[in-house]
Amino acid sequence: LPTFPCRTRFAPSPTGYLHLGSLRTALYNYLLAKATGGQFILRIEDTDQVRTVPDAEKRLVEDLHWAGLSWDEGPDKAGPYGPYRQSERLELYHTHAAELIASGKAYRCFCSKEQLLHHNTISHEQGGRTGYPGTCRSISPEESEDRAARGESHVVRFRSPAEPTRIQDLVFNSFRKKDPEEDFVIIKSDGFPTYHFANVVDDRKMAITHVIRGSEWLLSTPKHVDLYNAFGWEPPRFAHVGLLVDMNQQKLSKRHPGVDVTYYKDNKILPAALLNFAVLLGWSTTDVKGDVMTLEDMVKYFRPRFTKGDIKVSMEKLSYL
Ligand code: GLU
Repeated sequence: LPTFPCRTRFAPSPTGYLHLGSLRTALYNYLLAKATGGQFILRIEDTDQVRTVPDAEKRLVEDLHWAGLSWDEGPDKAGPYGPYRQSERLELYHTHAAELIASGKAYRCFCSKEQLLHHNTISHEQGGRTGYPGTCRSISPEESEDRAARGESHVVRFRSPAEPTRIQDLVFNSFRKKDPEEDFVIIKSDGFPTYHFANVVDDRKMAITHVIRGSEWLLSTPKHVDLYNAFGWEPPRFAHVGLLVDMNQQKLSKRHPGVDVTYYKDNKILPAALLNFAVLLGWSTTDVKGDVMTLEDMVKYFRPRFTKGDIKVSMEKLSYL
């Protein structure tokens, strides 16, 4: 896959509102796309039915527009574009899960939550390992088909490789976890994909070249790379950026008052001021004239820096926090 010009995406889960940290992530994805003549996409990752906040998507879209960030595509052919929504793409995930089941790289698991909890409680008490014990790993394809056809409730699990996978990151460089991944769920019992699975399928289908996201996702990346490998797909470039923290080094989250973009909006902070604050967190420059950079100024600033070989250097700015 070509990695230049860059195609990026901002992929919020509608479980909360846009906050300063996520605005910064969206902005850097936007800038990388625009500075290289590529495209920026908005994708709502609404696969968690339980945690979805009803007005979150609406507010995310409004707040991004308020900040001046727009996206270049959507499910409808003509603009102004709405976001892609994972809940409208379930068939795609099912087709891909079926492909992995057919090749033996995924399997149906019929264990109930109660059974797994019971197993883990006992194992924990006995000082053993917790996590998925692999109970359904060796059910035959025929039995699996048959039980599914009879309507037995199940999830689909990925058959993780026995050895941990080494991953590359533009900010954190190369690393390998100590332990292999357990066989994690890719399709839940409600038929929805998990974040990991939908995220990988969509990044591939949307031809995303660079994934810039908060470093809280760094430890999920081996799972993602395992999925890419299982499909025989080349993974995108990853850049996990430092999280914004408060004075006590605690991650800025929904619990902190005054981190929601809406808060700034309601307090009449100018979007340009907030964008400058977000883009300049952790570094500064004397290369830009004037006090405030417009979005165009930012694109211009990054254009020579986000060239093919130099993306890493600019990404390092993001890890200074
Ligand atoms: N849905 C995830 C989030 O809300 C996206 C992480 C990613 O960009 O892969 O942060």
